[in-house]
Amino acid sequence: MRDDLGGLYQDVILDHGRRPRNFREPPDANRRAEGYNPLCGDKLTLYLKVEGDRVVDAAFKGSGCAISTASASILTETVKGKTRREVEELFEKFHQLVTGKRVDSSEDLGKLEVFSGVSEYPVRVKCAALAWHTLRGALENAPEPVTTE
Ligand code: ZN
Repeated sequence: MRDDLGGLYQDVILDHGRRPRNFREPPDANRRAEGYNPLCGDKLTLYLKVEGDRVVDAAFKGSGCAISTASASILTETVKGKTRREVEELFEKFHQLVTGKRVDSSEDLGKLEVFSGVSEYPVRVKCAALAWHTLRGALENAPEPVTTE
């Protein structure tokens, strides 16, 4: 499984996969959602603290492959301090990035760029996108678990 991924596992993904940031359950979170990717077995719970229109804290717990863990880790770092609208825009750009349908390739998406290689591995797109779908569920306070299927 690992060997055929080649350049996909870049240092940043490996680092975040091994030592995920914001891997905790914040006691003051006021939004949460669960996400599940049955294709790979990735499971995570995303916690948000939303004040007004802004995400002031983001964290997650769960277990999954390096890509899903790294994606959740980088997501929590990325969305902190952003408004709902900014998060929605990022979601769109991230989705374009991992599906290889990027509209503006000159735009720098920061750490999210490490997932650009995922577009070459369709089965991995859901791993990378799981945290983002779950994030959307948390923002909408989805009562049902979010699944990538
Ligand atoms: Zn996975």
